[in-house]
Amino acid sequence: MIDFHCHLDLFENPDAVASECEKAGVYVLSVTTTPKAWRKTSGLAKNRKHIRTALGLHPQLAHERSGELPLLEAFLGETRYVGEIGLDGSPAYRSHAEIQLKVFERVLSASRNGGGRIFTIHSRGAAEAVISTLHRHQCCSTAVLHWFSGTRTELDTATALGCWFSVGPAMLRSEKGRQLAARMPRDRLLTETDGPFAQDGKRPLMPPDVRMAVTQIAKLWSTSEQDVERQLNINLKELLSRVPDTSSRSSA
Ligand code: MN
Repeated sequence: MIDFHCHLDLFENPDAVASECEKAGVYVLSVTTTPKAWRKTSGLAKNRKHIRTALGLHPQLAHERSGELPLLEAFLGETRYVGEIGLDGSPAYRSHAEIQLKVFERVLSASRNGGGRIFTIHSRGAAEAVISTLHRHQCCSTAVLHWFSGTRTELDTATALGCWFSVGPAMLRSEKGRQLAARMPRDRLLTETDGPFAQDGKRPLMPPDVRMAVTQIAKLWSTSEQDVERQLNINLKELLSRVPDTSSRSSA
């Protein structure tokens, strides 16, 4: 099982959750929301086989944390994964669009060095802007749009641009989310939870809950859960083969 977007460091007891994932054999991409969180959060992956860490600066924090950009650039050589990054155009964050874009573009260009990165990208209320920004910065990196909630046309544009997608139980609860997921290319799809932000009722989603997404995808594809898991594992392997894993990246 694969959780390609989870905030391990924001759970009440990150170390216990990390151990649980390791025991369950869940591959986890543990994303960070600020460069300052990088050291401690990447520490959770230490001596654990299935956990990887992404270096990020969340668009909802861009206006408060843009001062940490030099720190992000300093750590960039240590990782193959960058996120959570992106743009947020929802009402509460719309007024910070300019600084969000500045941060997003700077991270995208810095990520060109060393063979590109795998991105996990937030695009709530800003799908079009995210897609056009990625288009301008296209190079060797591969972008995974997490919890995509744009229109069908925007989805098709992102697909044509070569984007990948990660979908989770919270997204697949809505009819719109299921329709979008059904339209995503099967060979560029991964599962995620976005826990602990995303919840199942009042309970934060945990990485093993990607099982619920696998069940939903199997319904959308009219196939078995085993088939879905097989395809997702092939996809992960393919994605990782696209971006070099250099030895300088200790947490790769
Ligand atoms: Mn997230």
